[in-house]
Amino acid sequence: MTADRPKDFIREIIDADLAAGRHQKIVTRFPPEPNGYLHIGHAKSICLNFGIARDYGGVCHLRFDDTNPTTEDAEYAEAIMRDVRWLGFDWGDKLFYASDYYERLYQLAEELIEKGLAYVCDLNEDEISAYRGSITEAGRPSPHRERTVAENLQLFRSMRAGEYPDGSRVLRAKIDMASANMKLRDPLLYRIKHAHHYRSGDRWCLYPLYDFAHPLSDAIEGITHSICTLEFENNRDIYDWLVDHLTLPARPRQYEFARLNLTYTLMSKRKLLQLVEEERVSGWDDPRMPTIAGLRRRGVTPEALRAFATRVGVAKNNSTVELALFEHTLREDLNERSPRVLCVLDPLEVVIENYPEGQSEELDAALWPHDVPKEGSRKLPFGRRLFIDQSDFSENPPKDFFRLAPGREVRLRHAYVIRCDRVVKDPAGNVTQLICSYDPSTRGGDAGGRKIKGTLHWVSAEHAVDVEVRLYDRLFSVEIPGAGGGDPLADLNPGSLVVRTGCKAEPSLRSAVAGDRFQFEREGFFFVDPLASRPGAPVFNRTVSLKDSWAKAAAKAEPKAEPRAAKAKAPEKPSAREALSPEAQALVERHGLSPEDARVLGEPGPLRALFDAALAFHGNARGLAAWIVNELPPEARAGKPLPFSARELAELSSLIDDGTLSGALGKKVLAEMLQGGGSPKAIVERLGLKQIGDPAALAPVVDRILAENAAIVARYKAGNKNVLGALTGMVLKETRGQANPKLVSQLLLDRLG
Ligand code: ATP
Ligand code: MG
Repeated sequence: MTADRPKDFIREIIDADLAAGRHQKIVTRFPPEPNGYLHIGHAKSICLNFGIARDYGGVCHLRFDDTNPTTEDAEYAEAIMRDVRWLGFDWGDKLFYASDYYERLYQLAEELIEKGLAYVCDLNEDEISAYRGSITEAGRPSPHRERTVAENLQLFRSMRAGEYPDGSRVLRAKIDMASANMKLRDPLLYRIKHAHHYRSGDRWCLYPLYDFAHPLSDAIEGITHSICTLEFENNRDIYDWLVDHLTLPARPRQYEFARLNLTYTLMSKRKLLQLVEEERVSGWDDPRMPTIAGLRRRGVTPEALRAFATRVGVAKNNSTVELALFEHTLREDLNERSPRVLCVLDPLEVVIENYPEGQSEELDAALWPHDVPKEGSRKLPFGRRLFIDQSDFSENPPKDFFRLAPGREVRLRHAYVIRCDRVVKDPAGNVTQLICSYDPSTRGGDAGGRKIKGTLHWVSAEHAVDVEVRLYDRLFSVEIPGAGGGDPLADLNPGSLVVRTGCKAEPSLRSAVAGDRFQFEREGFFFVDPLASRPGAPVFNRTVSLKDSWAKAAAKAEPKAEPRAAKAKAPEKPSAREALSPEAQALVERHGLSPEDARVLGEPGPLRALFDAALAFHGNARGLAAWIVNELPPEARAGKPLPFSARELAELSSLIDDGTLSGALGKKVLAEMLQGGGSPKAIVERLGLKQIGDPAALAPVVDRILAENAAIVARYKAGNKNVLGALTGMVLKETRGQANPKLVSQLLLDRLG
């Protein structure tokens, strides 16, 4: 492990597993379904799975989870391999396909049937879902649930033989129709589909479902840690049930982490496919797409994507990351690899009247700014006719406009100071030309003590290269496309692509080739499009503009990032000891709040309002304050409406106080509430999250953990009392955080003597 890499909860689990000797070698997998191109969310999963394998000297398999013949394709599989490789990861010879396991999976299904643990069910889809019941109501057994093993085997074999039409029968696991986890109510394992598969051809008309194929493929490959996204949390019970009831070479475990969501971005493969099919974009690799192929073509580097994955980290709660943070990461990466050049996107002609006609000169221009430790320069020709950008001139400039205007002076980057003397207009009154004069003594930009505020980019008209520039912007114009329940595609940003032809680039860019990166000064970072460019005629994609809204927002929130001068004038942040406001003081005295919480809630605003309202339902002011101040997302402080009421927050606090939930479970419930999950009591019911406070229920788990970890117990008995924490952790993990921690340590201490 590299010391500077932050530990996430999955790496902590792996550390504990290695310490306990549960595994010698860590094996992970990245399991895409080849039904679309990979996107930036997948990049996070790839970095996590392959990153863990690299850090622990293990391996990461690339496995195509290809069990749906109608949506999968070899083109997608190839694109996925290309993208994983481009991201910088290597699966060596560990390339697998679930479709290669079909025969083996089928045999495992027969094993389940023979054990009386699976049955063929003839109910149709609607009936199955009606029989399944609801969260408040147990399901009813299918009329086919009690078929004999012999009958099930015969039916299943006939299903395989192609004797029944699509949808007429399924194979189901026989688990528990009354389980609190609805997924366990006899989940479907196999369905009939008479369809051609891109790899297995027409050999099969019976296909395993994800819940069956996934855990068993993991077990077949000896995966130790099967990492997936949170929406599979409830499927974990099926996963465990299957690997516990079948004869398999390994016993993998599933862990869930939060998927990556980004503002202004859609991450559903289905929706991305729709964008492609409806030709809203030019293809999967359209530079506006959040696909890896699109980002690559836009000019994003694998290093930037990996840095972003590290930066967003691995969390257990779903959240949405600001696209601006991605763009910020991108600028940091591109800054050091993009030489600075000049390109005028929207040209306006300038004539330098006092520059001799027919003459030109070459200026030496560094390619890198002072703060990038790289060297190199090129020659920039300067002459009588130039172009500057339309937006850099104003005939009637507003007060804070420091660019060119009649009678004003500006500096031209790497060149001279010029002054605008006259304006030439067409009959319609549009400015078509600026007549300027230059100051020969300012060559290289030295204004000789004169105060010149603006520096403009420019190119020599005689030497400029005409280029096409594609200005990409966010694909969607709202933070969460489709947030109001409407069609997300209705939120597409009509201005997401602006193509500018006739842009004027400095002559050195004539030799730019596909894949080159530049910063066009004052404009942004650009990438030479690999498909549209031809030799001598590069087409430039704007990867990202220079304006960094994220850095600005971060600087505002964190006074440390402000420049020194500004900081000296700004009022100091109140120190912890500084006097509380009378309102805050009152909260300390009346409700016993800590000064820190009182400081926050002492200010009028949405948090205080929530606190007051919740207090009317539940009297534990300190508990409520802790939830509000420490656990709510930062946007809540700014007044972003929460998807739950004060009453529900009070209910959460009371569930902790009455011992139903531990603090850790409370946080889980809050995370659900923030996702719009409803009332805490309903969430507790739905997720089966009650704290286990009954010693009789916990004792068997404690005993099992002690029996399985004899080596750790021996260390405890030899005097290493620190391992008590590790053992407690294992019991908590076994109960998925539901055991009362105090009770667990008590039980452990009783047994360890
Ligand atoms: P679908 O299942 O709808 O086709 P998917 O995005 O889940 O789409 P998979 O090919 O099944 O596609 O995903 C492969 C792996 O990538 C899975 O382990 C999945 O959990 C993970 N993954 C998918 N989307 C994200 C995301 N936004 N953030 C992190 N990991 C993701
Ligand atoms: Mg999936």
